[in-house]
Amino acid sequence: MTALVWFRHDLRVHDNPALFKAAEIGQGVVAVYVHCEAYVRLHSIAPVRLDFVRRHLHTLVNDLAALNISLQVIHVTKPAEIAPALLRLAQQLNVSHLFFNAEYPVNELNRDQSVNQLLREQGILVKRCHDRCIVPPGMIRNGQGDPYKVFTAFKKKWLQTVIPVNMKPYGAPPVQPVINSKRASIKEIDQLFTAHDLRDLSELWPAGEKEAYRRLDLFIEKSITRYQDQRDFPAIDGTSTLSPYLAVGSISPRQAIAAVLAFTRGEWEGGNAGANCWIGELIWREFYQHVVVDFPQVCKRKAMQAHTEAFPWSYNPTFFNAWCEGRTGIPLVDAAMRQLNETGWMHNRLRMVVAMFLTKNCQIDWRLGEEYFMSQLVDGDFAANNGGWQWSASTGTDAAPYFRIFNPVSQSERFDPNGEFIRQWVPELAHLSNRQIHNPPALGNYPAPLVDLSESRKSTIALFAQLPGFAAH
Ligand SMILES: Cc1cc2nc3c(=O)[nH]c(=O)nc-3n(C[C@H](O)[C@H](O)[C@H](O)COP(=O)(O)OP(=O)(O)OC[C@H]3O[C@@H](n4cnc5c(N)ncnc54)[C@H](O)[C@@H]3O)c2cc1C
Repeated sequence: MTALVWFRHDLRVHDNPALFKAAEIGQGVVAVYVHCEAYVRLHSIAPVRLDFVRRHLHTLVNDLAALNISLQVIHVTKPAEIAPALLRLAQQLNVSHLFFNAEYPVNELNRDQSVNQLLREQGILVKRCHDRCIVPPGMIRNGQGDPYKVFTAFKKKWLQTVIPVNMKPYGAPPVQPVINSKRASIKEIDQLFTAHDLRDLSELWPAGEKEAYRRLDLFIEKSITRYQDQRDFPAIDGTSTLSPYLAVGSISPRQAIAAVLAFTRGEWEGGNAGANCWIGELIWREFYQHVVVDFPQVCKRKAMQAHTEAFPWSYNPTFFNAWCEGRTGIPLVDAAMRQLNETGWMHNRLRMVVAMFLTKNCQIDWRLGEEYFMSQLVDGDFAANNGGWQWSASTGTDAAPYFRIFNPVSQSERFDPNGEFIRQWVPELAHLSNRQIHNPPALGNYPAPLVDLSESRKSTIALFAQLPGFAAH
């Protein structure tokens, strides 16, 4: 009997465990993508990200057709409609199995659980594969059997765990027996998204597996050996820009690491400093996916460290809007926010700088920043975004203790010393000298700093230090 594969954040045919295993049954495969309108609003998914998914579906429908697999699409308005819609399709196609790759946030787990229950009741086997992480969540534990809260220890254990695991990515599945099943047209795919604003940035972010692989190859060929020296400088193209592709799953973390290991001839650590450092970033990605499973309160808009919930966050709309629009009067923060608003992407160093500025200098609730990022990012990923925000706000994992607060002016002098990045995004400051550009004098066309960096820093540290029960942590 036919197998059905439900595509979600794994929009590729190569190294896709759910697709590969469905094909192993050998009696033909049909694919389905479900678009849920309410999910888009619940997660504040950015118009640029939605359009990126739409364009990925255009390439996926063709890539699957080459394997004799039809992609069908289903539109629903709310999550409760997903399981019945999948059951209807499964019964119509008379499938024996439904395969999908696991997703870990709480809402997605609940959704998958109801699909599993409904289809099993009707005699359809549901198979959940692990794909989003190289080491499935739950497998990295300390000596007491507890999850790690600190990245360095997690990374050490992750490396001990992963090395013996077979890292070889699956290829594409073999061409499948033909089955009589309708394939979605480009028009039907586009109609899924008519209820939403879309933003087409296809020149910046072309869609598809081939593009993801092209970026990976180019990065390994040109930049990986200098990655550890260049990755913090936003004016340099020193990072892979693969995050949007990893987020929608047009490339897998296994494919990324396998390509690096081919370059280092199998050396995980010690071979090439740039490659080691880049692998470390992919492990950060895994860490935050594991955090979502091990500390599910983070999926419910809660701080990972409960005692920090008492912090008296502000909701000052003047501060927040100025930050969103890139007119805080702090040039590096403004340049970064304008990069985000224009391109749907922001350099990692700057994500930390703007998140710390919003939470530690403006004392705005990190949840507002997290949501704004999701509403703009082409690479928006719940786990990485929530992890990054909670790290910056000192409410989450690891080592951003509340008293370590980036000074955005010093960060600017250090990581954009000639002001190149600022000049690109804040043209009203372009005429200033390399010294003045980080902390400009009063100008008619550029705002004065929104807050006093030194006073606001002191105030935040004092407020954190007074949190009830803080001494215990
Ligand atoms: C406040 C904040 C919010 C963030 N939100 C997101 C998000 O929504 N989606 C997202 O993919 N990343 C997020 N990040 C992590 C990181 O900034 C981006 O992954 C990175 O900038 C993407 O650029 P790149 O692909 O060139 O990365 P590279 O430097 O080439 O790194 C390779 C890959 O490793 C992963 N990675 C790198 N750094 C991190 C990190 N700190 N945490 C988790 N994964 C990482 C990404 O998948 C990235 O594509 C956030 C970081 C912060 C501080």
